[in-house]
Amino acid sequence: MIDPKSLLDDLTEPQRAAATHVDGPLLIIAGAGSGKTRVITRRVAYLVSQGIPAWSILAITFTNKAAGEMKERIGHVLGRQVRDFGRLDQPWPTVCTFHSLCLRILRHYSQQVGLGATFSIYDSSDQTKLIKEALKALDISSDNFSPATVHNAIGDAKNKLITPEQFAEGARDFFHKTVARVYTKYQALLKQNNALDFDDLLMRTVQAFRDVPNLLPELQDRYQYILIDEYQDTNHAQYLLAHALAMKHRNMCVVGDPDQSIYAWRGADLRNILEFERDYPDAEVVRLEQNYRSTKTILAIASQLIANNTHRKKKDLWTENADGDKAEVTFCQDEHDEAEVVMRRLTEFHAAGVPWGDMAIFYRMNSLSRVMEESLFRNKVPYVIARGTEFYNRKEIKDVLAYLRLIANPNDEVSLSRVVNVPTRGLGDASLKQIAAWGIGNQRTLFESLAVAAKIPGVSSRAGNAAVKFVELVKKWRELAGIRVGGTSDGTPLAPSSGTPGEGWGGGSVDAANSAEISNADSEDSQGNADGSNPHSNPPPEYLKRGPEAGGEIRVSDQASLFGDESEWDAAPLDEEESIADEPFAPSDEPFAPPDEPTVATEDSALSIPPSVIPPMPIGGVRNLMEEVVRSSGMEAHLRKTGDADLSELKNVEELITAAAEFDKEQPEGTLIDYLAQVSLVADVDHMGDGGGSVTLMTLHAAKGLEFPVVAIIGLEEGILPHSRSRDDIDQKEEERRLFFVGITRARQRLLITKAQVRTVRGLRERTIPSPFLRELPEDYLKVTDRAGLDDIDARGGYGGSASRDDHNAGKLGFKRGQMVRHPTFGLGRIDEMTDTGSGTRAVIQFNAAGRKTLILEYARLEKV
Ligand code: ATP
Ligand code: MG
Repeated sequence: MIDPKSLLDDLTEPQRAAATHVDGPLLIIAGAGSGKTRVITRRVAYLVSQGIPAWSILAITFTNKAAGEMKERIGHVLGRQVRDFGRLDQPWPTVCTFHSLCLRILRHYSQQVGLGATFSIYDSSDQTKLIKEALKALDISSDNFSPATVHNAIGDAKNKLITPEQFAEGARDFFHKTVARVYTKYQALLKQNNALDFDDLLMRTVQAFRDVPNLLPELQDRYQYILIDEYQDTNHAQYLLAHALAMKHRNMCVVGDPDQSIYAWRGADLRNILEFERDYPDAEVVRLEQNYRSTKTILAIASQLIANNTHRKKKDLWTENADGDKAEVTFCQDEHDEAEVVMRRLTEFHAAGVPWGDMAIFYRMNSLSRVMEESLFRNKVPYVIARGTEFYNRKEIKDVLAYLRLIANPNDEVSLSRVVNVPTRGLGDASLKQIAAWGIGNQRTLFESLAVAAKIPGVSSRAGNAAVKFVELVKKWRELAGIRVGGTSDGTPLAPSSGTPGEGWGGGSVDAANSAEISNADSEDSQGNADGSNPHSNPPPEYLKRGPEAGGEIRVSDQASLFGDESEWDAAPLDEEESIADEPFAPSDEPFAPPDEPTVATEDSALSIPPSVIPPMPIGGVRNLMEEVVRSSGMEAHLRKTGDADLSELKNVEELITAAAEFDKEQPEGTLIDYLAQVSLVADVDHMGDGGGSVTLMTLHAAKGLEFPVVAIIGLEEGILPHSRSRDDIDQKEEERRLFFVGITRARQRLLITKAQVRTVRGLRERTIPSPFLRELPEDYLKVTDRAGLDDIDARGGYGGSASRDDHNAGKLGFKRGQMVRHPTFGLGRIDEMTDTGSGTRAVIQFNAAGRKTLILEYARLEKV
């Protein structure tokens, strides 16, 4: 136990006021680096120190660092280590992201929501695959409707909680009408695969609040204190979700900075923070104006930049920190020169004692990192790319995970078709198509069809046998995974024709299928309609009826109608077939009460999951299962034989196995599903820790909430930052400016900004135009260096002085433009241009005999004539 006072010692008065606020709504609206995250971190620990049960706290954070610190501080207060099983039935505080929260809720209530407990979560590449499939099924050319565009439109709709039906209703033009069809088909495919995409996690949860009786009240009683960091970046679905949870106890604390809103493209809605006081008229509002992070110079640069945004409330941030060094703006020749400049500067800082882990390089888009990486690699500078998803996007890693997803959810056909012939086992495309077609004709899933492939007319015996063998393998792995064959109800709609209630798909259905008595026994649909909403419920409540297209969203200030009123709920129970009221899964009337001791919740706990629903920990852990899969699938032998010379693919797989072993150690009671949930929510920043002795490379978006003593931001060019997408759109341009602002305000002491004069974009070497944001930075706080020999002030981003600086430098050497000189080799010549490059003064000299040459004055052995 620690003295709560010590939690507050190093806070200022306004920070303390916010951290010790206990009941009622609280808004902390403040500038970058003013201690917002610090305050809510302390506040959660303070609440616990005041006797508030840790399990009743829900903190939504965006950085691992903040989450880790919260858990650590709460742990100090409780006198024991805080753990997180990633599940709802845990007695600990919930500190996670919105997506992770939704996943916990949906998994916990999977039966009531109408999802199999073992649903898969599709990442962006899985989504694209499914969208392509939907386009194909509808005979829509992907030349006219690019999967990416359709994907964005669907994601956008989901963030606004617009269902396919609503989308179709609101669609006026051909494009939207077509997207509506794809959206409907796409949802049907997701359902068929027993899968959700990221956006579904939020949408389905909000729908469950409406559709599943008792679910919301139960959660409202569970989460009595809610804190949200980076509130300026919440979208409409997140807004509704959070406020529905908070509606009963009203202990909602949000923290944010409108100047740092950078996710409008994912539906973030600034109104959420700007209208908090309207939503909660009794809210206490705390404003923090002192910045503790950055030097005066960095703060002045950031403030002057953001002042150019017209849609903002003016804020005065000040700091007592030192003036600090000028920010270094360098105009480089090309991207290689830029990478060298940054690498060399960081190396100099390192030589002066700055640890590598204290330095970061930010860029607007991932494609900018490659050249930077090469330079760091060549020069042996340790670096990490905060692109956690990158590792999980490698083919071999996706393959292993697809196997695991298939083991958990045999309906997941995206995973199934990914691995069914990896490594090749004689199941070519043609055979698979035949098997799949037979399945469609006979209302069998692909997996069921594979099980009987040997008996399907027209399928070669080689392919048929391979398919049956493959199914046997998966069944064996499922047993190893602790999924009882024939005994587990995991919600898959493979109810065996001869099965008794409670029997799952397992041996029952496959064996039935194997017996060649292939009836068309239907798989009882227990999953609602295509969009996941309950087809039998009353018309959608107000908030869904009033989608943006229908004229204005619903806000918290509309209170009672947020989720329809109680009577509407009473009138809209799940229909007979779907009702789970008599099932053992029915939520208890008792509010959530965790055990006194923070042990793993037992079956008796009010929110426990029936053990039969979620497969238990695989025998020997996830690691054991994964090793077995890699070995007995033939993947290992295949990679050894055909992989690259240094077996890097196999090494990656080994790294995945090592990570699984860590998971087993950290979560001895974790299940295969827990593991898959964890890897499917890996975010960009997840794998970086504190840089761990390496320079961190990341996108500006991923840098949100973080800080580093030394920050370099590269690629300050028109079309990159601001992004070309924002060209004619003032709002988007302002968002790009905020993004640059977020980057600058991550820096504590030193800031480097670079621009390349020539850059290769999609294979084309192009001259660039400086970012207009460069002109907006106060020149007095900058040290501008021109390595590109730019003679046009516009090309120097609007900064006048490179010529005078050259003269200054060259003046020290005694040279002037127009001066005659003699070189030992080239003879007599005249200096035409001089530019200070940071590593010397570059002079362009017209020699009488040798022609035009560019030389570095300091080394050129020139004589004045
Ligand atoms: P951002 O807007 O970037 O998310 P923030 O407002 O959340 O920033 P924090 O990250 O909480 O700010 O704090 C910025 C830095 O200032 C951190 O290093 C933090 O430890 C430090 N800090 C905050 N408050 C104080 C204080 N009262 N005394 C000393 N340091 C502080
Ligand atoms: Mg913060």
